[in-house]
Amino acid sequence: MQQVGQRGQGATSQTSARQNAGETPALQTRTTAAALKTPPRRAGAALHENLKTAAQEANQQSQATPMQAAGQQAQNATAEERDQGQQAKVTLVVRDQSGATVSNADVEIEPVGISLRTNGDGTVSFGVPLGRYDLIVGRPGFEAAKEHVDVRDTTAHTLNVALRIGVADRVIGGVSGTPVSVGAAKLPTEFHPPMVPRKVAVTFDDLPAFESGALNGTQIDAQNERLLGTLRREKIPAIGFVNEVKLYQWGQVDERIKALQMWLDDGFELGNHTYSHVSLNKVGLQAWEENVVEGEPVLKLLLAQHHMTLRYFRHPFLDTGPDLLTRREADAFLSSRGYTVAPVTIDVGDWEFAPVYYDAKRKGDTAEENRVVDAFLDYANESLDYAERFSKQIIGYEPMQVILLHDSQLEADHFADLTAVMRKRNYSFITLDEALEDSAYNLPNNYAGGGTGWLDQWAITEGKMPPNEPQLPAWIEQRLAALH
Ligand SMILES: [Zn+2]
Repeated sequence: MQQVGQRGQGATSQTSARQNAGETPALQTRTTAAALKTPPRRAGAALHENLKTAAQEANQQSQATPMQAAGQQAQNATAEERDQGQQAKVTLVVRDQSGATVSNADVEIEPVGISLRTNGDGTVSFGVPLGRYDLIVGRPGFEAAKEHVDVRDTTAHTLNVALRIGVADRVIGGVSGTPVSVGAAKLPTEFHPPMVPRKVAVTFDDLPAFESGALNGTQIDAQNERLLGTLRREKIPAIGFVNEVKLYQWGQVDERIKALQMWLDDGFELGNHTYSHVSLNKVGLQAWEENVVEGEPVLKLLLAQHHMTLRYFRHPFLDTGPDLLTRREADAFLSSRGYTVAPVTIDVGDWEFAPVYYDAKRKGDTAEENRVVDAFLDYANESLDYAERFSKQIIGYEPMQVILLHDSQLEADHFADLTAVMRKRNYSFITLDEALEDSAYNLPNNYAGGGTGWLDQWAITEGKMPPNEPQLPAWIEQRLAALH
């Protein structure tokens, strides 16, 4: 809580926080106006844009509390998007002293609290209301400085930002104090800050299988056996969230239930994900509550056989309620039935890659399968990086995270590859119980609106704008669109 409160003090406190952490970036800025292109936008980014709009508006409202404003604005986001008002689109081009563009530099814009990372071409684009902004461009190994940016009219701007090379022997990362020497006027090409230990709880949704409609009971058992095999070998605790409707296929019920039994026999936990994967935001509270109850009988029976109780719930689509009243009533209902809500702080998009992977596998196109897996692992790595930076930005540190995954063919075949990516980033694996001991999960959360993760929800509650999410590869988007 204290860390959250301190964040409101703006650029100065953020900069000093970063200095305290020993990873001070540097900078020198110079601004010139020029013409700008609207950046390409991912189709699925609409919600994200809505969130941003909501956060922005919340910042500007003095009457309502930021939380109330954010909740309200999240609902009105479509209208807000139509009316950008006095917004200006700004593109930053970040260059080093040699004039080369700099990718992966952190750029923060105060007081609106936008935090972005430059793309491969050294640019970041964002929209802001007219006004004067402090610009903080950060990159470890470079000395920090800042300058104002005046956005005076609604025409597009392109701003060039020059980086000045920082001091030598700066301590980076703030953990083990590995000194990095940066003397020459050239960017370090390889930079590996010492890594903090990270913890994550692994959760799988949509049991007994993400592709339950396409697979038969035998295939579903085999899929779960492969996934559980990886979890056992790597000694990773996990919880699976079940949609019981997927058990009821004529002649396959026993085999499908067996998949769930395997989870419990191996010492893993199961939770409820509603009977038929319904959205609280769509079906209304009463129908949703009935669907939650309908999702319990088999789970309760299986858990009782293993001397366990049904205690975790995961919202389908992460839809936690279209408005705050509904959310609060749904929360009270869940709690009255003994549930703890399973939050999500990391989403690596496996549910977007899984259908493309399954399609390639079904066609026997091994080359395509491999391409999908490679793209998924790259995207997962980016998504982890995103969640780590976003965490620090919103709550001041990386909490014990909760990752959303799915019981899919992709994960059954390649979860071990994903864990390798995570271990490289210094993650170790903990139970959901342990993750939820992190005080982050007690932070105020007054978010209502489109389904999204808890980092977004905390940010919106504070009236802050979530940064741009990593973009799905365009070819994956195209394949997905073709499959729908
Ligand atoms: Zn689901």
